[in-house]
Amino acid sequence: MELELVTIGTELLLGFTLDTNGAEIGRALAAQGIRLTRRTSVPDRADDIREAVGAALRRTGAVLTTGGLGPTHDDVTKQTVAGLFGTPVVFDEALWQALLERYARYRRTPTANNRSQAEIPQGAVVLPNRWGSAPGLWLEGAAGLAIMLPGVPGEMRNLLHHEVLPRLSERTRAAVGVIRSGTIRTTGIAESALAERLGDIEARLAPLTLAYLPGVTSVDLRVTAWHLPAAEAEARVSEALGLLEAGAGEFAYGRGDTDLAAVLLAEARRRGCRIGVAESCTGGLVGGRITAVPGSSDVFVGGIIAYADEIKREVLGVGAATIGAHGAVSEPVAVEMAHGAAARLGADVTVAVTGIAGPDGGTAEKPVGLVCFGFHVRGHQDSMQRVLFGDREEIRARASQFALFEVYRRLRSLPD
Ligand code: ATP
Ligand code: MG
Repeated sequence: MELELVTIGTELLLGFTLDTNGAEIGRALAAQGIRLTRRTSVPDRADDIREAVGAALRRTGAVLTTGGLGPTHDDVTKQTVAGLFGTPVVFDEALWQALLERYARYRRTPTANNRSQAEIPQGAVVLPNRWGSAPGLWLEGAAGLAIMLPGVPGEMRNLLHHEVLPRLSERTRAAVGVIRSGTIRTTGIAESALAERLGDIEARLAPLTLAYLPGVTSVDLRVTAWHLPAAEAEARVSEALGLLEAGAGEFAYGRGDTDLAAVLLAEARRRGCRIGVAESCTGGLVGGRITAVPGSSDVFVGGIIAYADEIKREVLGVGAATIGAHGAVSEPVAVEMAHGAAARLGADVTVAVTGIAGPDGGTAEKPVGLVCFGFHVRGHQDSMQRVLFGDREEIRARASQFALFEVYRRLRSLPD
């Protein structure tokens, strides 16, 4: 089955509201094997709604809309769609009674314009909304099928899962199969290098398709099975994830939306390590990523934000001579920071970050983006440096990710 989506709301075009309904509906329909062929956003204007919904109905015969079902004058979806079906809007007494009961339950008095919420296109099936006041509407006629849902994301979601998907799957059952995806997360390797490493993997994955999804700190590999029976789709996706994981090797750190900090914490917990951080240019981002993970307190002891040189010297014990000889952004300073943090915090694993996040402060020798990392892992120390791309925010995010990844790698390679 094919379907188009029209999300309605002037705020979507002004950019005040992100069209999360569009993304959510796309995922939910794909999981049911229903192909969403087009997504359009239009303002709360009858002409625009008529044109978008009309065109969708002509192309696929089925359209889903969100928004514009409320009681205010800018809510014109149902009148407009009823017009396309050549159907009048009528007052539905049973729906009105249900709305009155809802108001009584919450001890509110309906206003005059609430009555308009009990008006529906003649012949439409009311999809009861137990989560809000505007019901969904399911309208079928010569023009095709129009499903109208409210714009409020929580109400849309509940109606979609409880009322719409069961009805749609009734129609598509057995016909098309499902669409299933799975994701492997990688970091520390560029998209192009990853593609080279994976070689001709696409041929081995076929008929599943592979997408590279690069972000600031990770490149995700998403594999998708299209229109297969559910059990087969799941088995093939799971097999494909195994192949991708093997192909990405040491750069793969998890599946789905796994967070690297959580993976690092699990590894540290397994090995009984206590982690601490010393941060200059990341200003607490590494510690922030770690403490964002629930339950981090059994592994993470704390961190020191050593921004000024005197804090590096006085709190972390970095030698004035080391800073004098190499500069604050240098591997020797990073190592001394990591060592000092281990001593001050009583941690057996620490990472230190010092770098130039920009936009100013770069030189030919030490450009913006140069970040030095020091590691202290159970008494063994080492350091690395990288020149990271991007603006200040991206450099800081990449430096945090790099620090977490390199600590994770070191933990993983410790003898058991
Ligand atoms: P109501 O009965 O609440 O009036 P409605 O169908 O009229 O429902 P709208 O007035 O269009 O819904 O939108 C209600 C809220 O939902 C607004 O805050 C809007 O920003 C948000 N919203 C609308 N459409 C979307 C969308 N596509 N994605 C995310 N949020 C949305
Ligand atoms: Mg609206």
